[in-house]
Amino acid sequence: MRDDVAFVHAPELAAWRLAPDHPFRPDRVAVLEDLLRAVGLLRDAHVVPPAPLPDGALAAVHDPRYLDVVARASRGDAVDDLHRWGLGTPDTPVFAGMHEAVAGVCAATTHAVDRVLDGRAARAAAFAGGLHHAFADRASGFCIYNDLAVAIRHARDRGARVAYLDVDAHHGDGVQAAFYDDPHVLTFSVHESGHHLFPGTGHGYELGRGAGRGWSLNLPLEPFSDDAAVLEAFDLVAPEALRAFRPDLIVLQAGADAHARDPLADLSLTLRGYRALVARVVELADAYAGGRIVVTGGGGYAAFDVVPRAWGHAWATLVDATLPDALPEAWRARWADVAGGPLPASAWDDEADGGVPAARRRAAADHDRAVARRLLRIARPLWEAASDPAAGKETT
Ligand SMILES: [Zn+2]
Repeated sequence: MRDDVAFVHAPELAAWRLAPDHPFRPDRVAVLEDLLRAVGLLRDAHVVPPAPLPDGALAAVHDPRYLDVVARASRGDAVDDLHRWGLGTPDTPVFAGMHEAVAGVCAATTHAVDRVLDGRAARAAAFAGGLHHAFADRASGFCIYNDLAVAIRHARDRGARVAYLDVDAHHGDGVQAAFYDDPHVLTFSVHESGHHLFPGTGHGYELGRGAGRGWSLNLPLEPFSDDAAVLEAFDLVAPEALRAFRPDLIVLQAGADAHARDPLADLSLTLRGYRALVARVVELADAYAGGRIVVTGGGGYAAFDVVPRAWGHAWATLVDATLPDALPEAWRARWADVAGGPLPASAWDDEADGGVPAARRRAAADHDRAVARRLLRIARPLWEAASDPAAGKETT
């Protein structure tokens, strides 16, 4: 097991809620941390508390008026027109201390990036992070500040070229929007098609703008896409895109809601497929980014069944180890009350196919392969133009 991987976390990052019955559960990360310690894959030497957020880091991404609105709402001050800022909705309600809670998440992801860029860690994880739906001036999809955009912008301002990969079931719309015209940041989102799922974007024709054209990439997948379909589509595009982009750092949003049992999305990944996908990204970081990778959490609404195991496999991959097949009884018992039922006994799924008929899975795979090939056909000339100095002036 490797010791040079940072697990950036502090208890308060798992101790907030958007609302009492909200499906987004930050305490998933406490359950994950306890699991990893119980199986011996997380040592004190791995765990790093976040450093304070650098001055100006939030304002580099978010509109100052929006930051002011969140700060006032967080203190309990009356704010007019909350809906204009995406706040005060069932998805993103106002709650006391919200600014501190989500600024803390931004600090964790940013510190994970700093650790890796400084060479103090070979790889890092910040599983509290992954709030990919927040926009510059608007909360959306359970996300108030966009920790990923804040951390990537910070890395970019340090001179790094950043490749952002997003395997959450939902399109990484807020991160894409933050860097849509930026040639120094590649965003690549693999998600259930916006024709079927929130936020409705992430289509193949969203390719970036101006000098950033060709560096926003989307693979919108069919519902019921399974391990083989997702991995095939990913493998068709990701290595070639990274070879063309030449990143210094990969940031992976590793949301676990593409799993077959997630209640909010319709993809059909198993834990083996999810682990294989994360392992692919780690291999790509080794091949194309000097090994530098930061992994965050994200979605995951089978919060105590799927998420600790999925992220447990992700962490195990980062430290070149494996989760044991049987999960510890003491860990299962400790969290049964919080989870409202027994936690899983096995590190793997019960059934391999997720119960989707074979014809349906084949049709999804055919669709996904066609989407990936079409994206390659359109993006390749854009990548070639970007790497050709003679074509450098052509930025429309
Ligand atoms: Zn999601």
